[in-house]
Amino acid sequence: MEKYNIILLGPPGAGKGTHAEFLVRELGVEHISTGDMLRAAVAEGTALGRQAQTYMEAGALVPDEVVIGIVRERLLRSRPGRVLFDGFPRTPAQAEALEKVAEEVGLPRALVVYLQVSDEEVVARLSGRLQCRDCGAIFNRRYDDLEAGAKCPTCGGEVYQRDDDRPETIRRRLCAYREQTEPLIAYYRQRGQLVEVPAEGDTIENLAARVVAAVRERHS
Ligand code: AMP
Repeated sequence: MEKYNIILLGPPGAGKGTHAEFLVRELGVEHISTGDMLRAAVAEGTALGRQAQTYMEAGALVPDEVVIGIVRERLLRSRPGRVLFDGFPRTPAQAEALEKVAEEVGLPRALVVYLQVSDEEVVARLSGRLQCRDCGAIFNRRYDDLEAGAKCPTCGGEVYQRDDDRPETIRRRLCAYREQTEPLIAYYRQRGQLVEVPAEGDTIENLAARVVAAVRERHS
C-alpha cells in the first residue's frame, strides 16, 4: 500500500477522535491530536497550557504559531513514518505550515478525509458528549448509559463533560469552524487530496468501517 498521511477534517463533533482511534488501529499510523496535546498541557499547567486555556474555554482557536509550534516540535522529536492528524490543520496558515514541516521531516503527502455531518447532528453530539479524564475514551449520553461523574466503563476513570462542550461555547466553536477551517475543504479539493465521507445516520462501527474503506479505496 502506498505511504501517506491522513488528515481528519470536519466540524467539532464530526467524530474525528472516534474515527482516529479506528484508523490508528487499522493502519498503524501515529496519532497526533492537537486538541489532546493542548488539553494535556492545560491539565499539567505548563506555560503552553496557560496560554491555550483562555482560547479553548472561549471556544476560539488557539493562535496558529502556538499550534504549529507544538506540531512541529512533536514531528521533529518522534520522526514518524506516517501520521494521522486529528484536529490539525484548522486554518489555511496551518495547512501551509504543515506542508513545509512535512517536507522537512520527510513525511508523505496527505489524504484528507472530510467527515460530513449536519449542524443539528453536531449540536446534539457535542451537548451529549462525555469523556474519560484518564483514558480519553469518548461516550455520549444519547447512546451510553452514562452521566458526568460516572466511572469510565473502559478504565474506571472519571467521566466528565468538557468545558468547551457547553451550549454557548459550542456555538462559538461552530463559528470558528465556519470562518477559519471550512476554507480548507476547497483548498484540499482543488489539490485532489480530499475524500468526502458522510459521517452520520449509522452506528459508530459502520461509520468507522466506511471511513476506513474510503481511505483504503484511495490508496490500495
Ligand atoms: P478538539 O479536541 O480538536 O475539538 O480541540 C479542542 C480545542 O482545542 C479547540 O476548540 C481549539 O480551541 C483548540 N485546538 C485544537 N486543535 C487546534 C488547532 N489545530 N488550531 C487551533 N486551535 C486548536
